[in-house]
Amino acid sequence: MSKNLVSIVKYEKPYESVRKAVELAGGLDHLPSKAKVFIKPNIVFWTKAVVFPKWGVITTSRVIEDIVVMLKERGIDDITIGEGMVLSESKDKETPAHAFEYLGYNTLKKRYGVKAMNVFDGDMEKVDLGDGVELTFGAEIIHSDFVVDIPAMKTHNQTVVSLGIKNLKGMIDLKSRKICHNADPSRDLNFHVARLADKMPPMLTIIDGIYTLEKGPSFDGRMKRSNILIASSDVLSADMVGAKILGYEPSQVPHLVFAAGNRKRPHDLSDVEVVGEKIEDLQDFHKSDFEYIEDDKGCMPAALKKSGIEGLYYRKFDLSLCTYCSGTNGMILTAIRSAWKGNKWDDVEVLTGKQKKPTPGMSKTILVGKCMYEANKDHPDIKEMIAIKGCPPQPKNIIKALQQAGIEVDPTIFDHAEMAPGLLMSRYAGNPEFEESFFQIA
Ligand code: SF4
Repeated sequence: MSKNLVSIVKYEKPYESVRKAVELAGGLDHLPSKAKVFIKPNIVFWTKAVVFPKWGVITTSRVIEDIVVMLKERGIDDITIGEGMVLSESKDKETPAHAFEYLGYNTLKKRYGVKAMNVFDGDMEKVDLGDGVELTFGAEIIHSDFVVDIPAMKTHNQTVVSLGIKNLKGMIDLKSRKICHNADPSRDLNFHVARLADKMPPMLTIIDGIYTLEKGPSFDGRMKRSNILIASSDVLSADMVGAKILGYEPSQVPHLVFAAGNRKRPHDLSDVEVVGEKIEDLQDFHKSDFEYIEDDKGCMPAALKKSGIEGLYYRKFDLSLCTYCSGTNGMILTAIRSAWKGNKWDDVEVLTGKQKKPTPGMSKTILVGKCMYEANKDHPDIKEMIAIKGCPPQPKNIIKALQQAGIEVDPTIFDHAEMAPGLLMSRYAGNPEFEESFFQIA
């Protein structure tokens, strides 16, 4: 039986490196002539307010332009780049438009006739993924003849890695995203993510590892210049190779294990042929998550613990925490950290997601989001309940709840939340390896 071909190439220069990766993998060998092609980049986050670190977070425009050129050379005229990025306001049209302009997609339109679309502006279509899973995808990708899936190469604090299969989560509607973060552990996030590629048209995956991201998926992770490109016509094989390079056996990545099982394939690379660079020469362990510390004084991320905080019990979120509550979660932690003035808090527990249960003995329990409230509103172990209802919860209610618990957070942190990612740019300032130009079209 023939093996699934995956190419690994070192990124060296525009056009040539992507071309080499795609050709070694035979990635466009079965591209139908006159195909309608959909390109799926990864734009996990965007803000108009400030320039923020994008390295390993967002697909480089370099790789996007290079594949567009290859498609045009093959006579392809109908090319759409589409993304359904995470937005705090679901009806926000300006932020995606700003992202497409900044990333040069409008220049690609002028130069090559490429269209750029916010997936939420187009038709959506329910797709049966088997085993009772129905998710609603952008119709444009489902009805294209060929997909080029271009994830940024990263580890992920919920799914271990986020590569070709996980990148397709940006193609489903908000309701489907919430379904993926299911509270039933036997049908959890990994179970759902594993199926995202199952009904896609023929697809070329190019993993963009010019920059890679540790502790992803967003701008607060650690970014590296890695100069890696991985390509394959088989998304699972590309992802298994990507996971290995990031330091994880495919068997350590639950959604890849599910995806392999669904395809009746091994959970390793025994049916994969790697061409180009060797995995061993490029392997670089990328941590997937931030450290949490628990002792008799509290439980919280290590970064908060270092501040000396006591009396706070803020356990790591689980797989049931949706993307939207996840953004809120980061903001709450930032606000809590800056509210610490050295006086022990009153054993305040903060619970997130859909599954967590209150710890007995806490003085105050903050339930973040509609799901947590519904799951625990009558729980007997809660002494004083402070509920932040809403899906996702609104900043003014979060501020009120934290202050009610004795944590005097500064409301301006929430007012200026859009500016916060820009502060992280200083980590990379002056380092010539981190070039903003990779995210623009010259
Ligand atoms: S409240 Fe939060 S966890 Fe619950 S569905 Fe809404 S966004 Fe998801």
